[in-house]
Amino acid sequence: MAGNYVSINTSFYQSDEWLATRQKIITERLVNGETICEYCHKPIYKKYDIILHHKIELDELNYQDVKVSLNPDNIMIVHHACHNKIHNNFGKKYSSCYIVYGPPMAGKSTYVKEHLQYGDLIIDIDKIWECISGFNHLKGKPDGLKRNVFAIRDLLYDQLRHKVGFYKNCYIVGGFPLISERERLARDFNAEVLFIDTDKETCMLRANEIEDKEVKKNYITYIENWFDKAKLFDNRK
Ligand SMILES: [Zn+2]
Ligand SMILES: [Zn+2]
Repeated sequence: MAGNYVSINTSFYQSDEWLATRQKIITERLVNGETICEYCHKPIYKKYDIILHHKIELDELNYQDVKVSLNPDNIMIVHHACHNKIHNNFGKKYSSCYIVYGPPMAGKSTYVKEHLQYGDLIIDIDKIWECISGFNHLKGKPDGLKRNVFAIRDLLYDQLRHKVGFYKNCYIVGGFPLISERERLARDFNAEVLFIDTDKETCMLRANEIEDKEVKKNYITYIENWFDKAKLFDNRK
């Protein structure tokens, strides 16, 4: 089906050329070691908050033209929130997809909530758990519902692939400790990957504030597991 908002049909944002250009631009434009937003002129403190905006928006055709897609003059470094503002002012034809990942208690949902706009699509497996179990996901994830939860998520992934529905931004939220899984998703959906890089101590402090003893214990285990997995399989953060 044809939509107003479509994704660029490639893994442009995961290509070596783009990732190298992106890093080069960020490094070259550092001011006293800080990245400054070219929209609001304030520093961007968190790596995951750095978005590179194309002044001439990329579409199905022009992303292949390096004079547009990889041209530093066509690229602005901005906060995620400022990026949303730019596109609200000037309109946006193409939808953006973001993979928001990090350890349990990192603040992924909070980050999405802060940037969410009416009509955006969120695929957050924790929220799907809550939706069909009726319990806060902190309470745990009943094994018997696993297949149902995954089926709902996969349906949404499928719709994303086939461009069903209209939205400007899609947020795929999850732990995704394994780089292979993140990269597969990022390629599938031509998504930008945002790592909510909260350290283990902070995550543990937050988990310790959970009142329910059993839930607290679960979460401490989830956090441990996430960092173990990320450490084992991922040496390029
Ligand atoms: Zn800004
Ligand atoms: Zn943009």
